[in-house]
Amino acid sequence: MKFYIVTVVFIVLIFLGLMLGSDNNAKLIAVIGILVVYIIIVVIGVSNIGFNLFINSTLTIKTTNNEIAITFDDGPNEELTPRVLDILASYNAKATFFCIGNKAEKNASLLKRIQSEGHKIGNHTFEHSVWFPFWSVNRIKESIIKTDNVFENAKIENTGLFRPPFGITNNLISVAVRSLNKQSVGWSIRTKDTVRTSLKVLNIVDKKLKAGSIVLLHDTNENICEELEQILILCQQKKLKPVTL
Ligand SMILES: [Zn+2]
Repeated sequence: MKFYIVTVVFIVLIFLGLMLGSDNNAKLIAVIGILVVYIIIVVIGVSNIGFNLFINSTLTIKTTNNEIAITFDDGPNEELTPRVLDILASYNAKATFFCIGNKAEKNASLLKRIQSEGHKIGNHTFEHSVWFPFWSVNRIKESIIKTDNVFENAKIENTGLFRPPFGITNNLISVAVRSLNKQSVGWSIRTKDTVRTSLKVLNIVDKKLKAGSIVLLHDTNENICEELEQILILCQQKKLKPVTL
């Protein structure tokens, strides 16, 4: 919705630039200037899920109880997800796993374990393709539905939660997600744990973690176990309770 409003405002501005420009040169400069600002806003909107330009994503959780939500993307991972589950259990913490359909298909038992231990599972597309933002609405929908079918075959609850790969959103993804009645989920703390050192990840979490935070982690990051344990200790120190979305 915001995207349509921004687009209409910029079309009006272009018309005003064309009408009010004193000569052709001034008109051209005005139109180019307005288009450049529009493109910058769209690029920021595409790459920042928190900008909510195309779709309203959940970025924090509402809580009066000092709760936070830890989320894991890109699993399930045969080696790391069971260890992550063990750590969560030992701290009595709950989390939400945004699973990739083609990995979930090969790890149905792990999917069942995630659910049976009280965690939630969300949809993170079937392929996690870098081309996902360029696909048609129908192809995007197919990828999401295919993943839902994997969950259904494994008797996993359909939570309706969806996280777009790479946190990239655009108008096509927005139309597809809304037509499937999915709730898009972003985050308030992006740790970039797959590329940053553990020290940096923990510093970011320490600095930003507060009641209502949604933390983005990956159960594919080889340091996830050590980092998760430190984050859960931090939660205890800050008296924050990790819950599902
Ligand atoms: Zn991902």
